[in-house]
Amino acid sequence: MPEGPSIVILKEAVQDFKGKKVIAASGNTKIEKERMNGKKVTDFKSWGKHFLICFKGFALRVHFMLFGSYRVNERKSTMARLSLEFENGELNFYACSVRFIDEPLDEVYDWTADVMNDDWDPKKAKKKLKATPEMLACDALLDQNIFAGSGNIIKNEVLFRIFVHPASKVGNLPAKKLNELIKEARNYSFDFYEWKKRYVLKKHWLAHTKKTCPRCNIPLVKEYMGRTNRRTFFCNNCQELY
Ligand SMILES: [Zn+2]
Repeated sequence: MPEGPSIVILKEAVQDFKGKKVIAASGNTKIEKERMNGKKVTDFKSWGKHFLICFKGFALRVHFMLFGSYRVNERKSTMARLSLEFENGELNFYACSVRFIDEPLDEVYDWTADVMNDDWDPKKAKKKLKATPEMLACDALLDQNIFAGSGNIIKNEVLFRIFVHPASKVGNLPAKKLNELIKEARNYSFDFYEWKKRYVLKKHWLAHTKKTCPRCNIPLVKEYMGRTNRRTFFCNNCQELY
């Protein structure tokens, strides 16, 4: 599943279509895609893992779910969920969820919850975390209302970076660790973004999908943890359980 930084990279990859009219919308989606025909794209935005194509008066929301993907000026052999043709190229989305948003985006989205956004507000994140003391650290970093854009890779790497065991309760974290968690969720997201753009993201993983702790040189634990049973990699020796 693409995490927030990948959606920001997508947003940058499609800038040539900003201000351009949709010549034809096609694909196997059931939404009324024809309403985009002849309409000009006013902007591309992202909120966490949501990619937003803005038109005057409405927006199209693309959510890549678990297996979604996209191609710019290229096609996959499978049927696209949605294809948008412009005079200067095309944008294709596969296996994703698409829907229209007719409300103003500022009413739908809390931009301060998006870890990659300029409006990201760490104080609000802290307030939300303090309100859910029983929540596990591994769940907190997947909670889109607190850390929109953070996904499983970010979760594993952030907890490893700050020496916190994924089963720690948020309410048990010392103030210093809680601050580190919030800070690193954003920091690591930007590292992810830079590394992904240079195709060296995997090379920099310290815990995610890894077998050995690079700090202790002992086996990492792999467990399906938290509310959503996602793959969690951690070291029982250097990541403290609070
Ligand atoms: Zn270790």
